[in-house]
Amino acid sequence: MNNQVKPTDTRKLLDWIEGNWEMERTAGTKESSVRAEMWHEFYHKVVSGDFAPDTPSLPTIKPDGKGFRCDACKETFSAYEWNRATKMYCGTDNISPIETTSCGDAFFVCPECDSERKLSGLEVVE
Ligand SMILES: [Zn+2]
Repeated sequence: MNNQVKPTDTRKLLDWIEGNWEMERTAGTKESSVRAEMWHEFYHKVVSGDFAPDTPSLPTIKPDGKGFRCDACKETFSAYEWNRATKMYCGTDNISPIETTSCGDAFFVCPECDSERKLSGLEVVE
């Protein structure tokens, strides 16, 4: 067993909770109003972030490391962060790392704005 966090789509979860809540709320029995109350509480716990995963701390760019500046949002990230966002976006670890890719047409995913950027459009920041 690993303890890797499995992300959940909060919107889908809330839609499902809302559906159950609505169903129990409109059923009009004593039992259903108790269950509606439970769904209501569950809803607010999700909305308030009780089940949100801990945000992993991202490595900052080392003073001697290279950064890549997004041409869309103008934020600069390390090669590690670009590779990480691209891997997550593609759903695979099998990508050519940004720091060793020479093809300017290769796409990488910006960790900030989540958009696909051409390598040739990224400004290298030393
Ligand atoms: Zn960006």
